Amino acid sequence: MGKFDPAPVRAQFPIFSAPLRPGVALHYLDNAATSQMPAVVMDAVRAHDATRRANVKRGVHTLAERATDAFEAARAKLARFLNAADPDEIVFTSGATGALNLAANSFGALLKAGDEVVLSVLEHHSNLVPWQMLRDRSGVVLRFLPATAEGHVDVGALGRTVTQRTKLIAVTHVSNVTGAITDVAAITRAAREVGARVLLDGSQRVSHGPVDVQTLGCDLYALSSHKMFGPNGVGALWGKAELLAQMPPFLGGGEMIRTVTLDRTTYAKPPHRFEAGTPPIAQAVGLGAAIDWMNTLDHGAVATHLGALTQRILKGLADLGGGNGRVRVVGPPGLHGRVPVVSFAVDGAHPHDICQMLDAHGVALRGGHHCAQPFMESCGLGGTTRASLAPYNDDGDVDALLNGLEDALAKLS
Ligand code: PMP
Repeated sequence: MGKFDPAPVRAQFPIFSAPLRPGVALHYLDNAATSQMPAVVMDAVRAHDATRRANVKRGVHTLAERATDAFEAARAKLARFLNAADPDEIVFTSGATGALNLAANSFGALLKAGDEVVLSVLEHHSNLVPWQMLRDRSGVVLRFLPATAEGHVDVGALGRTVTQRTKLIAVTHVSNVTGAITDVAAITRAAREVGARVLLDGSQRVSHGPVDVQTLGCDLYALSSHKMFGPNGVGALWGKAELLAQMPPFLGGGEMIRTVTLDRTTYAKPPHRFEAGTPPIAQAVGLGAAIDWMNTLDHGAVATHLGALTQRILKGLADLGGGNGRVRVVGPPGLHGRVPVVSFAVDGAHPHDICQMLDAHGVALRGGHHCAQPFMESCGLGGTTRASLAPYNDDGDVDALLNGLEDALAKLS
C-alpha cells in the first residue's frame, strides 16, 4: 500500500481550481452532506446528454438503445461496487431517501399490524419518518436500539429489542452524526435468529469505497450518488432478488408494468417494477462514472491518509477544549470503528454560529441536528458541528479548521 498524496486527486476536482472568495481558499469539510464531483464525472454526464440523450427502455431507435445500454451499464457498475449477485438487484431511485421510502412502502406492504420493525435512535430522518408513516397506516410496531456513549448503534441491546415478532432491523451502516460504523454482523446474527430481514442505510458508507452486501449478509441496502462523487438526483436500493420478487411496487406508472387494462395491471419483474416513469438517466450514467473514478483510488491508502487527518482533528479539538470540557466530541474518541466524520459540541456556542465563523476562513462545515433529532435529544444537545473528510482533503484543510476554531472560540469567550 503506497502513501496517498491528495494533491493529484484534488487537481481532478474543478471546484478547487478557484478560491471560494478572493484571497480565501475553499476548505471543503462538508462531504457527509455532499461530496464534490471530479471533472470525469461532469464530463460523463455532459457526454451522455450530448451524444446519447433519449428515453430508456421503450425506444427502438439508435439513440434510445444507446441510452438504455449506458443506463444498464451504470446499473452493472453499481452492482459490482456492492458485490450484488445480479445487476437486476439494483433499483435506481431518486436518492437514499427515495430508496428508504421504497423499502418502507414495498417491504412494508408485506407486514401486518403487530409485526415489529427495529430501528435505532441514531437514524437519519430518512430512515425513521417513512417507518413512522408505515406504523401510522398499518399498525406495525417500531422498536429502537439505543446508541452507545461513543455514538454507535448499541448492539448490546439487540437481545431485549428483537423479538419473535421482529420482521426487519433497519439501521444505518455508518452514522451521519458520529461517523461510527455499525456492527452489522451482530445485527444480521440477531435478525437471523428470528427470521427477520436486515436493511442498511449505506448513505455514509459508500463514499469510503466498495461494499460487499453478500458478506455483510443484509437484505436491502440504500445509498445516494451525490455522497459518492456522483451527481445528485439518483440513488439506489439494492435488494436480494428473492426478496425484491416478493415486494409489490410502490409508485405506479409507465415502465413498471407488464400489461394494463382499464380494470387492472400486472407488473414487470424487479428492478423495473420499482422504477416507474423516466428515471434519472444521465445522473445514473454519472454515478457509473463516479464508481469508475472511485475504483482508481487505493482505498486502504486513502483510509490511512484520512485517519491521520481525523486524528489531527480529534487531538486539535481536545487541545482547544483545554481539558475543561468546553469542546466535546460526539462520537468515537479515536480512529477505531469510525469513518472520517467528526462531530463536536462547543459549550455556550450554537453550531450555526461556529459554521458561520468558520465560513469566513473558507471552511465549509455542517452545524445543526443533521436530520437526526432523536439522537441529538438523547445526547441532550440541540445540534453539533460536523467536519467530514474526503480523499481530496489535506493538512491545509485541517490547519484551516483548527486555526479557524481557535479564532472562533477566542471571539466567543
Ligand atoms: N441517510 C443518511 C445516513 C444520510 O446521511 C443521508 C443524507 N444526509 C440520507 C439518509 C438521505 O440522503 P438523500 O438526502 O441523498 O436522500
